[in-house]
Amino acid sequence: MRFEVSKVLDAIEVRLTTDPALARAVVDLSEIVRYADLDGGRPASSVRLGLVVDALGKRLSEENVPVFVVAPRGLLSDTDLTSNERMVIRRWADDGKVEVVPQLDDRVFEVAELLGLPVLTRTRGTSERHPWVDEPGRLLAAVAGEGGSTVLMARVGRGEPPQAAERSPLGERLLARVWSCPEPNCTSFGSGGDPDSPFADMRTYTSPVSQPPPSLRGGVPSCPRHGAQLRDAGPRAAVEVLSVRIDGVVRRRFVVSTDEPVVVGRAPEGGRGVMLGQWLTDDARKWISRGHVQFTLRTDGNLTVQDISTNGSGVRPGGTVNDDERVALHRQESRTLAAEDVVELYAGVQVGRSKMWATGGVVQPESVMAEAPTMALRKFERG
Ligand SMILES: [Zn+2]
Repeated sequence: MRFEVSKVLDAIEVRLTTDPALARAVVDLSEIVRYADLDGGRPASSVRLGLVVDALGKRLSEENVPVFVVAPRGLLSDTDLTSNERMVIRRWADDGKVEVVPQLDDRVFEVAELLGLPVLTRTRGTSERHPWVDEPGRLLAAVAGEGGSTVLMARVGRGEPPQAAERSPLGERLLARVWSCPEPNCTSFGSGGDPDSPFADMRTYTSPVSQPPPSLRGGVPSCPRHGAQLRDAGPRAAVEVLSVRIDGVVRRRFVVSTDEPVVVGRAPEGGRGVMLGQWLTDDARKWISRGHVQFTLRTDGNLTVQDISTNGSGVRPGGTVNDDERVALHRQESRTLAAEDVVELYAGVQVGRSKMWATGGVVQPESVMAEAPTMALRKFERG
């Protein structure tokens, strides 16, 4: 059973992010692992995070939806979890995949407010520092789980259907800067320490462009993990979030920053870039080069695409479905992309700005629970 739990945790791991550009909801891991009603199982189980991740994907009709997970430090020594589960959560924390804080306070609501994200929680609760939580118009939406049962309530932005809200003005200002923590081994706001150190490669650091939002506990930007005041380390690179959409289904989102162009193709060199191979038909696989197109975000805010393929690609201005309006892009040709332009690598294999596609286009997103212990699942289906 432990073996299967490990597989579920591996599947969950790829959905964890503290990147403000990619996270789609915020969760308190200590609440979720104790949400025994979800599967009627043990008092605490990390596998429940998978049920929540699945429910969110279903709610958004999108594949590979990432969540921002916050955990109080005490969870790392919670003996209701197995030692294996504690070890995995500790590794996630060390790798900066989840944010571990000394005390939860209302960090979850703070992240939600700064980033404009829904909170996935089962309790309505209140928050003194974040009174918006109880404002009328802030919807509490049921997140439907397997078999139509309600998994969680999502505290979401204004509007119907529930949408993520805008980032708060304060969130925008904080995320316009790179922050630096005085703690030498800070994963979230670290500089990587001494590059000549023999241990320099042994730790992973969040890249400056995807740093989580600082905490404002005490009124100044602080490290959520260490409590230390953060130093302003200069402007942060601008980003644009793009989506890969194949035959109408959004497969994943990715970030292009002014710091780094991104290559999209069948299997870009060196494991960098966005790999499409696993989602392609045989014909598409034959047509699409390993590295097919490269996206660059210029400092003037313009997004450009350059064809680097063998067979060429195309741009659909304004996302037009009319093939006569499709503009061919030959090898080495570049083009600046207007807001709703869609790049097409092969018929139906598209990349465009994420905000353009409101729905991920899939009714039953792939589950992270495929390897879940059957007992827990059966119980869940009955519920
Ligand atoms: Zn820190």
